[in-house]
Amino acid sequence: MLIGILAVQGGVREHQRTLDELNIEHRAVRRVEHLEGLNGLILPGGESTTMSKLLELGGLLEPLRSALAQGLPAYGTCAGMILLASQVLNTRPDAHWLGAIDMDVRRNAFGRQVDSFEADLDFAGVEGTVPAVFIRAPWVERVGDDVAVLSRVPSGEHAGAIVGVQQGNVMATSFHPEVSGDTRVHAYFASLVEQAGYTHP
Ligand code: GLN
Repeated sequence: MLIGILAVQGGVREHQRTLDELNIEHRAVRRVEHLEGLNGLILPGGESTTMSKLLELGGLLEPLRSALAQGLPAYGTCAGMILLASQVLNTRPDAHWLGAIDMDVRRNAFGRQVDSFEADLDFAGVEGTVPAVFIRAPWVERVGDDVAVLSRVPSGEHAGAIVGVQQGNVMATSFHPEVSGDTRVHAYFASLVEQAGYTHP
């Protein structure tokens, strides 16, 4: 199995480390030719508007859209979730996204940097709770009929907010399992990749 990690900006290393722990081969994706042969793609956290700009400048935006439309399995964390959305709220007017999951995502939904927080979440497909780190995180405000909700904020001011979703072989979380060192959400993604049996031409 070969998983690409989008590496134009953001927290690439944490995903590399998590895949290393799972003994999954990975490749940094910076240019179009890096998509060839991938079985899945991770879109990391970072700054979605910066990533959007770099994807556009690097000529990766359309190839990524088309790879996802062809069936490349993908997992977006935080800014990566924003990029996978079909609609983004509270972003820059010139920002682009990829439309791989039928959902509206609100950027910086939980507040400012100081409002970053951690929580233990139930996550469909993973046993027990997942320690989740939220950093200027988005949340999902609407999901289409084909989207499964994997996780919600369990308690507190934002209880019930949707923070994990899946549509077919594409999934996204508002939080960063790769930062807390937990490998189970990535293992869940790897099982989707395995089932999909897709290799990008
Ligand atoms: N707030 C960032 C954005 O809008 C996302 C933060 C993150 O990826 N940790 O892109």
